[in-house]
Amino acid sequence: MIKKGEYLTGYSKMLKCFTLWTNVFININFVQMKHEALTKKYANMIHKLAEGALKTRFGTYREILYYDGQKETIAMVMGNPEGQNEVLCRIHSSCIYGHVFNSVECDCRQQMEAAQQQIQQAGCGIIILMEQEGKGNGHLALMKSQAYKKAGMKQSAAYVAAGYAEDARDFKAAAKILKDLDVKSVSLITDNPLKAKTLEDLGIPLAPYPASNTSAS
Ligand SMILES: [Zn+2]
Repeated sequence: MIKKGEYLTGYSKMLKCFTLWTNVFININFVQMKHEALTKKYANMIHKLAEGALKTRFGTYREILYYDGQKETIAMVMGNPEGQNEVLCRIHSSCIYGHVFNSVECDCRQQMEAAQQQIQQAGCGIIILMEQEGKGNGHLALMKSQAYKKAGMKQSAAYVAAGYAEDARDFKAAAKILKDLDVKSVSLITDNPLKAKTLEDLGIPLAPYPASNTSAS
């Protein structure tokens, strides 16, 4: 038989236990809410880490190094595109083969040179270099896709055949940089409609392509 005192002790323990778990539950929810709020807050974050000048074969650029919390991205800026419409812009993905090893199996180097020539002629423009080797799949994917490419597949199909995404690139950082540079609209140096649409979906107004815009991807 339970005596009165024992009953109260049991009840008190139960109450303490209930209070403890209620607090744990409330705290977990609070931490989750805080985490979601911070994630939302920093989703649009882009930080300028450094700025300098770089002389190239195609004129002098302002080099700005950005960081979005995950990756570093470089913006090369010529002239004063801030507040301007129809700013020439090339969003270029890194390519070890083309830019480091002078490979003749891709045209990344030529595309970069063509974009720099166009921007030099216009006197104003932006090149954004993104660390997205192998269409964002990485260099291993690029190497594994080579056998399929040499068998006659297009690069995009070769990635899929090798078990990777056709295109895993993410242009969010580029959109954040263009917003940070206060560019009103861009004339994107590309013939890749998907890239253009992705940028538009990220809130960057696009001007019509320049007439000379024929072969860049
Ligand atoms: Zn390349």
